[in-house]
Amino acid sequence: MSVSIGRARDAADGGGGGGRAGRPEVPLVSISTVIPVTRRVVGVLGAGLVDPEAPLVRADDLGLLRGDGCFESVLVRDGATVWLDAHLARLAGSAARLELPAPDLDAWRTLAGQVVAAWGRPGEAVLRLVLTRGPEAGGTPTGFAMVTPLPGRVVRHRATGVHVLALTRGFPSDLPAAAPWLLAGVKALSYATNMAAIRHAEAKGADDVIFTSTDGHVLEGPTSTVVWAAGGSLHTIPPTEPILDGVTVRELFAAAATEGIPTAVTPARMADLHAADGLWLVSTMRRIAAVRSLDGRPCPDSPWTPTLQRALGLRGDSA
Ligand code: PLP
Repeated sequence: MSVSIGRARDAADGGGGGGRAGRPEVPLVSISTVIPVTRRVVGVLGAGLVDPEAPLVRADDLGLLRGDGCFESVLVRDGATVWLDAHLARLAGSAARLELPAPDLDAWRTLAGQVVAAWGRPGEAVLRLVLTRGPEAGGTPTGFAMVTPLPGRVVRHRATGVHVLALTRGFPSDLPAAAPWLLAGVKALSYATNMAAIRHAEAKGADDVIFTSTDGHVLEGPTSTVVWAAGGSLHTIPPTEPILDGVTVRELFAAAATEGIPTAVTPARMADLHAADGLWLVSTMRRIAAVRSLDGRPCPDSPWTPTLQRALGLRGDSA
């Protein structure tokens, strides 16, 4: 990366500019000399690998202007994607709900293979598949794939667990079925409200959020699926509620069944989560994070946590 930050030093000094204030000009330095460059690999649908530093998206791309598009985050582990077909199927479902042309899943699979092979590192990473409506001026949808390291925040939460606030999603649980334009269950690019909810929780001293509907149904986290233990079973929210149909919870429940842990898909209210024997947030990147407290009330430390961590490929001794 070669962004020059010489002026940033002036600002940090209180502004004024070295030359004008009589001090020597601060030499322009490459940002790479002060901030470690985050490695990433980028590929464009139909074109293959591209320079990850090169501009990619047009200024009039509707994904950028309106968040109009969809995406997937896929786990990469030791050079292989995890549950790629389930993610591609969900990408196709999101595109259909957005009335975008049906994505060519073979082309996406090929692109995913190219960027993951070029990544070439052991351990975990995240592959993002991004599909937008394309330029406002007309043309074909924009599709690209990018592999980056996992965000430190979610990796930390695997080990530490999370303190969670319940926040309203702002609509009743039965509204989205009658209001498809709300795009409930679509992994649309417009995650600004989800990120704002997390910032709100952080400002209140929590780490993450569980959304509820205005009629009191438990929904999901801004970037996760809710899982809890009750009555000797592992539970999650049915995808008939206005939530994203999570891939990780499917993977978790399949693995739990082989461990002899019964699973159930049941609607819930906050009282159910407060009464639960264990509570977790699960998603592609975090895999699983134990909820330590919910709205300030401590949650039980479930003996299932290490088993569930192992079921999702974590060591199982960190929470
Ligand atoms: N719900 C929302 C709103 C999400 O953004 C995510 C993942 O990012 C999930 C649930 C979990 O889905 P998955 O397990 O497929 O990552």
